[in-house]
Amino acid sequence: MKYFIGNWKMFGVPRSINILNKINSFRSRDKNRNKYRVIITPPYTLIESFVKHFRNKKIMIGSQNCYQKDQFSSNTAAVSPYMIRSVGAKYTLVGHSDNRSEGDTDLMLRDKVKFALRNNLKVIFCIGENKSQKKNNKTFSTLRRQLTKVLKKEFNKKNIIVAYEPIWSIGTGKIPNQKDLLKTSIHIKKVLKTIFRKNSPAVLYGGSVDENNIDMFREIKEIDGFLIGGASKSSKKFIDIIKNYYR
Ligand code: PEP
Repeated sequence: MKYFIGNWKMFGVPRSINILNKINSFRSRDKNRNKYRVIITPPYTLIESFVKHFRNKKIMIGSQNCYQKDQFSSNTAAVSPYMIRSVGAKYTLVGHSDNRSEGDTDLMLRDKVKFALRNNLKVIFCIGENKSQKKNNKTFSTLRRQLTKVLKKEFNKKNIIVAYEPIWSIGTGKIPNQKDLLKTSIHIKKVLKTIFRKNSPAVLYGGSVDENNIDMFREIKEIDGFLIGGASKSSKKFIDIIKNYYR
């Protein structure tokens, strides 16, 4: 099973559901539809209405983040995994570089993952090196640290997906070369094996994926899917990514 996950970030109002209607109608006619899953993470404001609209359809809705506490607390503007699950979302991103740069620490991320899993949310855990770590050959050690500090062997690995998103690639149009990406995905899978032993989580790639460069990614079988930012805000681009992937 492959994943095509659209992260809308700070985008979308109620009428933006039209984008998802188009993706859903493409998917329901697509002969490859059983080979992949579509998940969209809109902002909090749209989760409940999107979940209701797509209840019996094949688009899953997730959240872009969650707070590192379980149910209710006195943290202004925070939204807990329990609250996200209560409106029907099935997934949540955790550790997106946008949130890491705003102060999310490994300890906070570990609690986010723990409480999300406890509330039956599947976690899409984002990791990735920045430009200087890449330049200084620190990619592998950075990824190992990000994974081992947060993911624990007692976590339910069936409900975890890892998204490798090099920070220098997010929103920049720059993507890793095929050889590097292959080596890095193998490294990530190796580290995951040391944590979880057998059957480790799926590993996705994210960072400037679009309908033109998807050809390059499709040759790397180690990649189990994609986390797509900018291009997920256009139904045409998102559909073309899927079409070109299975061409
Ligand atoms: C992201 O923010 O998760 C992302 C992958 O963005 P983009 O596709 O725009 O690089």
